[in-house]
Amino acid sequence: MISKKMENMVANSSAIRAMFEEGNRLAKIYGPENVFDSSLANPKLPAPASVKKAIIGLLDEEDPVVLHGYTNSNAGYEDVRQAVAESLNSRFGTAFAAKNITMTVGAAGGLNVILKALMNPGDEVIVFAPYFGEYRSYVSNYDGVIVEISPNTADFQPKLDEFEAKITPKTRAVIVNTPNNPTGVVYSEDTIKKMAAVMDKKQKEFGTDIYLISDEPYRELAYDGVEVPYLTKYYNNTVVGYSYSKSLSLPGERIGYLVIPDEAADSENLISAANVATRILGFVNAPTLQQKVVKACLNEKTDISFYDRNRETLYNGLRELGFECIKPEGAFYLFVKSPVADEKAFCAEAKKYNILVVPGSSFGCPGYVRIAYCVSYETIVNSLPKFAELAREYK
Ligand code: PLP
Repeated sequence: MISKKMENMVANSSAIRAMFEEGNRLAKIYGPENVFDSSLANPKLPAPASVKKAIIGLLDEEDPVVLHGYTNSNAGYEDVRQAVAESLNSRFGTAFAAKNITMTVGAAGGLNVILKALMNPGDEVIVFAPYFGEYRSYVSNYDGVIVEISPNTADFQPKLDEFEAKITPKTRAVIVNTPNNPTGVVYSEDTIKKMAAVMDKKQKEFGTDIYLISDEPYRELAYDGVEVPYLTKYYNNTVVGYSYSKSLSLPGERIGYLVIPDEAADSENLISAANVATRILGFVNAPTLQQKVVKACLNEKTDISFYDRNRETLYNGLRELGFECIKPEGAFYLFVKSPVADEKAFCAEAKKYNILVVPGSSFGCPGYVRIAYCVSYETIVNSLPKFAELAREYK
């Protein structure tokens, strides 16, 4: 018998993964070019050429015992962490040192590390719907309780009144994700300042430390010059989780980092706890080769035009067909209102046209569906006539 906890997790296991597997099945029957699989966000934009060059260079020049070995400290290589800190300082005017950086196994690894370091059973973690559904599993991993703030479907900025009302003495952390999966919304500086003020007020009221965890795999993916505020500058108890999965198109390599600033409450202990957590969670620290790769590619820029072209074409195409959605400012998702209240029925209907989209209920926001446009431009173009047929059914 598997554990009760796993029983629940298996039952609720990610709808996105299930869709992805369905996409593979359909692709085998109809050919990949005839299936619009926008379920799992595996970027179709290849990693920059400099990544391949860095890997080959490292394989040629580095000691293989080091390169394929365990990393030399739990937090990762000092020179890599120093380079990451300097890169952040030059871009955001921060003052991080190597000790503030812990290299992680992607954003998912980083989130699990910080939650493991922070949480006691029964602690609450606040999330703003719609949110990345895996947060539910991550919080449950440490016997925490997820507290949802209901979605603000007008513009998908967080509802701050409800947020304030739902902070309790048990609130240990708040997770924000901007640019957001699944809406593509970037939280404005004004929103962040107000959110920080609410959290400061509640910390004083309850005499607790409430950590803001900024989950940032899409930081580099912002369009039209939109600024993505760097959250450590607005609230002291901020921990940043970053990932190269999307910015360098390396989701399979599992590399990212956590930033735990000196200003965060109990920062030294938190850094030590994170460094131990990254060893004991089962993945045993960030992979050595990939740490060295990202150090070599720190100044690399994502080809944002690849996603932007998809964004414009899909957004305009779907709007012309009568679908309702807000224009994303970042990430690579459109969050589209389902033409019928039961969005799962709409997803099932879309599948008949080989269009795989994810129900909003997976993100705590029923009545909407998520379309990932990190696919090839041809796929976007080929999908529009199919979306047109689908739309006709709801006219
Ligand atoms: N957080 C969000 C909001 C995501 O969308 C994803 C992946 O899609 C992750 C975390 C996990 O990313 P990683 O591949 O870095 O673990």
